[in-house]
This record gives sequence, structure tokens and C-alpha cells, in this order.
Amino acid sequence: MHKIQMTTPLVEMDGDEMTRILWKMIKEDLLLPFIDLKTEYYDLGLKKRDETDDRITIDAAQAALRLGVAVKCATITPNADRVKEYGLKRMWKSPNGTIRAIMDGTVFRCPIIVRGIEPNVRTWKKPITIARHAYGDVYKNSEIQVPGPGKAELVFTKPDGTTIRELIHEFDGPGIVQGWHNLDRSIESFARSCFAYSLDAGQDLWFATKDTISKQYDARFREIFDRIFREEYQDRFEAEGIRYFYTLIDDAVARVMKSEGGFIWACKNYDGDVMSDMLSSAFGSLAMMTSVLVNPDGKYEYEAAHGTVQRHYYRYLKGEETSTNSVATIFAWTGALRKRAQLDALEDLERFADTLEHAVLRTIEEGEMTGDLARITSLSDVQKLSSEEFIFAVRKRLEEELNGI
Ligand code: NAP
Ligand code: MG
Repeated sequence: MHKIQMTTPLVEMDGDEMTRILWKMIKEDLLLPFIDLKTEYYDLGLKKRDETDDRITIDAAQAALRLGVAVKCATITPNADRVKEYGLKRMWKSPNGTIRAIMDGTVFRCPIIVRGIEPNVRTWKKPITIARHAYGDVYKNSEIQVPGPGKAELVFTKPDGTTIRELIHEFDGPGIVQGWHNLDRSIESFARSCFAYSLDAGQDLWFATKDTISKQYDARFREIFDRIFREEYQDRFEAEGIRYFYTLIDDAVARVMKSEGGFIWACKNYDGDVMSDMLSSAFGSLAMMTSVLVNPDGKYEYEAAHGTVQRHYYRYLKGEETSTNSVATIFAWTGALRKRAQLDALEDLERFADTLEHAVLRTIEEGEMTGDLARITSLSDVQKLSSEEFIFAVRKRLEEELNGI
């Protein structure tokens, strides 16, 4: 059979545990038989990160900047348990955090809507895309455990040695203190990515912070969004008939729950972390959520929004059958292949990505799905499939659809 050709390689970032098992199955059963797959491979599995003192993660992020499109498997962010489990030299940082810090830009997460999986929120009719700022705040914090009485201050030292000081707290006993930062440059590119994505999708943009309480920090986010909207995007939004809407984060949460969906919701880094898990669970499953990091120069990194599904992996290691949903990981691949196809003008490859996604949705809509979806579907007569069986069920439909073309 003639295989679909590629010109520029994708940056392939392999990962950990159950998703690493799915990764291999997806490549072997759904991609390699049909595509002359070109990738530059980086193994971000925890063992390799430890061996390379995490150099591999930095190399992978730099490759993404160089080649423009990457696809990433879920990876373990080590904690104390993992340090013991893997005998690590150090508690390495979150690979996603490292990649985001190098690439900058914004993470867009969007639920995959499929017939038979109804959102828990009855009013939601259309997907809600979360745009998560991917730089700074608590993810780049400095913190101290205050041992006892003393004074905590914020101190900023200018190049000429003069300082700006702000008292945080006079401690009369032990406590904790934490410092955050963000950059105008990063907030500006966040704003531009969101406005551009909104125009592209033809959907309203919502943005929310807590600027009534944080009158300098959060207010800066609001001012930058307002200014960039006014100066660069307002005319085009009006021409498209879409709008930019700012409100407080608690008001936004309340409105989202009563909305119909169909908009982009821009969130600061932490809000986006929390709200995307809330939205994906309410839309059905963590495994039905796509995620893409878009940097201000138009470089893309596609991934699944969920983790490495550790509990399933331990069952897999014991030789038990697993029913792990591979949809978000498959869509990370199709997202990356489609973007690569568009950049390199490869029609066959773009059509392949569309066809594979269609085959996935049809598999579920025809009642064949993994356990997480079988538990919540409104379809009757469904078959709960194992991890492998689901991928084979997709493969069968993919072959039918490719032969039909
Ligand atoms: P998780 O891997 O997302 O899994 C949490 C639970 O959600 C699972 O136990 C499973 O529930 C369900 N689930 C998630 N994805 C699923 C899928 N594809 N199919 C079926 N069920 C799915 O989160 P975690 O267990 O808290 O984290 C495990 C590891 O992932 C951690 O080491 C963490 O650092 C890492 N992590 C990585 C990323 C990333 O790389 N992007 C993101 C988050 C977490 P049941 O067990 O009830 O079936
Ligand atoms: Mg999270």
C-alpha cells in the first residue's frame, strides 16, 4: 500500500506509564501502517530524564521551537513517592512546566464532543475552550517556610541599586510566604494568542481575574488585555460579530455554569489548570479533552490534557486487562499531523488526520468505547472495550474510510 508522505518531521515527545503503552499502540496500529511517519524522537520518560539530568526535556522544547510542531505524551511530574519509586537523583521539575517556560505562549484546551456523552451541565450545548496562560505565577514561585518571628518584605532592586519595598507581613510566629511574578511581554503574547484564536474560531473571548483584590498584579492583566483589544483587535471582532468580555473570576465561574458554551475562556495559569479539569470532567471525561500550546511565533505543541493514568498502568503491569481511553492521545497526534500538513501543504496528510478523528468518533457513537465512557454514556447497548480492543475498533473504521476515499 502507498504510504502518505511527510516533509518536515514532527517533534515526538514520548512519556510515561499507561500513556506510554497507548502511545506505542497508536503509532503501530493507527499511524505507521498508513503514514511514512517522520519524527525527531525525544524520550521524556522519567528514567531518561533522570539519566540526562533533564537535559532531554530542554532539548525537546528547543526542537519544538526549531521544527514548529510537536506532539507530547503525558509524563510523570516527580514527587517524593516517585523519587523513591524510580530512585531519582533529584525531584525533577514538571516537563510541561519546563517546555512552557521555553516556548511561552498559551495552552488551549477543548472538549471533544461526541453523541452519547452528554455534558453534566444541562445548558451546555457547545464546547467551551479554555485558554490557559502558560507562564509564571505560582508555577514559577519562590517560597519560604517562615521559622518564627521576623519581617517579610517584597524588595525590587533596580540596576542602579535603588530599591522599591513593600511589607508583606510582620510575623510573630512561624508561617509561610511566597513570591510570584509575571512579565508584560508574556501577558501581551497571551492576550494576542487569545484574540487571534477567538477570531480564528469565530467565538467570543471571556477573560477574568481578581483585580478587585489584586489591584496591581491582576489589574495589570486586565489593562494589557484591554489595551491590546482596543488597539489591535476591536475592529476585527466587530466585523466578525464576536465580542471580548471581561469580568471577575468568581462571576465568570457562575456565568459559565449557566451558559450554552461556544466561547473561549481565557484564564490565568492556575485558574486554567483547575478549570480545565472541572470542564473536562463535566463534559464527560478527562480523556475527551484536547490540549495545544500555541506560542506567539506560531509554534505548536499538542498533548492530551490528562496524566499518565498511573492506576491503570499498575493493573497493566500485573497482567490485568485495562480499559484506558486513548482518544485525547490520538487527537494530540491528529492535531499535530494536521498542523504539519497545513504548514507543508500536504493534502493527503490533512485528510488522513480528519479521517482518523472521524473514525474515533464513529467508533464511540456506534457504541464501542472504553470503560470511562461506557459508565456515563446515554447510548444503550454499548460494548466496553479494553485499551487494545478500542484501538482495533478505530483501526477497522479507519481502514474502511480510507478505502472509501
Ligand atoms: P491522571 O493520569 O489524569 O488519572 C487520574 C484518573 O482519571 C485515573 O486514575 C482514571 O480514573 C481517570 N483517567 C485519566 N485519564 C484517563 C484515560 N485516558 N482513560 C481512562 N481514565 C482516565 O492523573 P493522576 O493519576 O493524578 O496522575 C498520574 C501521573 O500523571 C502523575 O505522575 C502526574 O504527575 C502526571 N500528570 C501528567 C500530566 C501531563 O503530562 N500532561 C498531566 C497531569 C498529570 P480511574 O482510575 O477511576 O479509572
Ligand atoms: Mg492539572
